[in-house]
Formats: sequence, structure tokens, C-alpha cells
Amino acid sequence: MPRSKVRWTAAQLKALGALLLLVVLLLAYLLWQQPWAIPSEHLAMGNPSGASVSTPNNYLMQKPQYALSYNNSTRIPNWVSWQLNTDWLGDAPRQNDFRPDESLPRGWYQVVPQDYTGSGYDRGHMIPSGDRTRTAEDNSATFLMTNILPQTPDNNQGPWAVLESECRTLAREGKELYILSGGYGRRRTIAEGRVIPPQHLWKVIVVIDEPSRGIRGVTPQTRVIAVDMPNEQGIRMADWRTFRVSVDALEATTGYDFLSNLPQALQRTLEAAVDNQ
Ligand code: MN
Ligand code: MN
Repeated sequence: MPRSKVRWTAAQLKALGALLLLVVLLLAYLLWQQPWAIPSEHLAMGNPSGASVSTPNNYLMQKPQYALSYNNSTRIPNWVSWQLNTDWLGDAPRQNDFRPDESLPRGWYQVVPQDYTGSGYDRGHMIPSGDRTRTAEDNSATFLMTNILPQTPDNNQGPWAVLESECRTLAREGKELYILSGGYGRRRTIAEGRVIPPQHLWKVIVVIDEPSRGIRGVTPQTRVIAVDMPNEQGIRMADWRTFRVSVDALEATTGYDFLSNLPQALQRTLEAAVDNQ
């Protein structure tokens, strides 16, 4: 059979060119805006505040190393969420390169490390430096100021640090953890009113025994640790276990819906209990 040759008129070619240009522009716009914001492994348990890229005080940021909701009025994260297992652990040294997060939308104030200087607060990591030691680049990502909030030294270096290190121990034992961490309430501002420290810090930790099954590995027996600690001095020697609460209690105080990707019945069971291990 003879192959028919398609002949294009100049007008048709012009129209086709314009159409192609339109498609390319549309794709570029979508890539730039990322309206679909494909949730990463760090959001496997859900997006507790329904953060998105169109809400400045609940602004969704997804990085290869973690995900977070940033608040452009308190200038701290509402929450940070991340996966922890041995894949993330290596021997990269602490980079200590606290710096502004330049990926914030243009025109927003970028908190600088000096905003915390002399405030009496530590630059408190939400995802700890120690949870990202696979590469120097991963570790460095934890020093972006969007992962930092003003944390009292006794909280940060006391029970909070002990709990962080116990999470890494669980990961090294072969568990996979999904951790969410943030603050609520307001204390007196620092950095000439630019940053508002939280009154309390909280954490929700899901400890999965069978990592290979992903979130299907979550059962009614899965260990879930939730804590609510005052962002105050004087608790350095306190045991983190004394700050344990139910996820239900944290949902009531924060207004968030944690573990929202789990079936309702499973959420009801896991969220009502207080860890006692
Ligand atoms: Mn810390
Ligand atoms: Mn829930």
C-alpha cells in the first residue's frame, strides 16, 4: 500500500506551532507551581493541617529529606514530618550550617540564624540533625531555618534530646518511624517581633515493626508515642515519659488531624491510647 504523504499548509504549521508553545508554557507553569504536590514518604501518615502552597500560614514545603507546614506570621514551622529508618543514617558529620530558607516564596521574610542570637532560646531543630546523616547534603537540609523554632535550652537539651535519641535507637533496631513534630501557643516574640516562640512542643511517633509493608504495616498493636512538653526552663532532668499524652489529646489542643491516612477505626484505636512502654 502506498504511504500517503501529509502536506501541511503554512497556516496549519503556524497553528501547530502556537499550540505546541501553549502546551510548553502550561507545563512550565505547572512545574513551577506544583499544584498537585505529590506527597512524599514523609507525608505517608497524612497532612495533619491540610497544608498547601496557597495558604501562607499553613504553607506546605516538601524537601527530599522532610516535609513541613510553615507559618509566615509566627515564622516557624507549624509541624515537620519525616520518615526515619536505617536508610537515613550514616556517618555524615553535623554540618551546623544554620541558614535562611531561600525556597520560601519571594517577598516573604526569611528568618536568619542571628534572629535567635541573645534571645535565650536554642535554635531548636524539629527534624534533628542526627536523623539525617546519610550524606552531608541531607544533614545540611536540617539546618534550614524553616526546620527551626525557638526552644528553651532545658527542653531542647533535656527530655526532647533523649526522646530523639531513643527514636534513632528504635530505627537502628530495624523499625521504621513516622515522626511529626511542632509547637502550639505563643510566647513573647523575639527578633524584634519577627518570630513567635511556641508555648508547648509536641511530637507524634508511629513505630512500625515491619517496614516493608509501608503504612499497611500499621495495626491496632502498633506503638504510637505522643508527647506534649512545655517550652520552658526547669525541665532538663525530667523524663520524657512523664509528658506522654494520647494523640486524641494533641488533636484537641492543636486542631490537627494526625494519622489521617489511616482508616478511621484504626485511628480511633491508636489515638485514644497513651504509650506506656
Ligand atoms: Mn534539638
Ligand atoms: Mn487522626
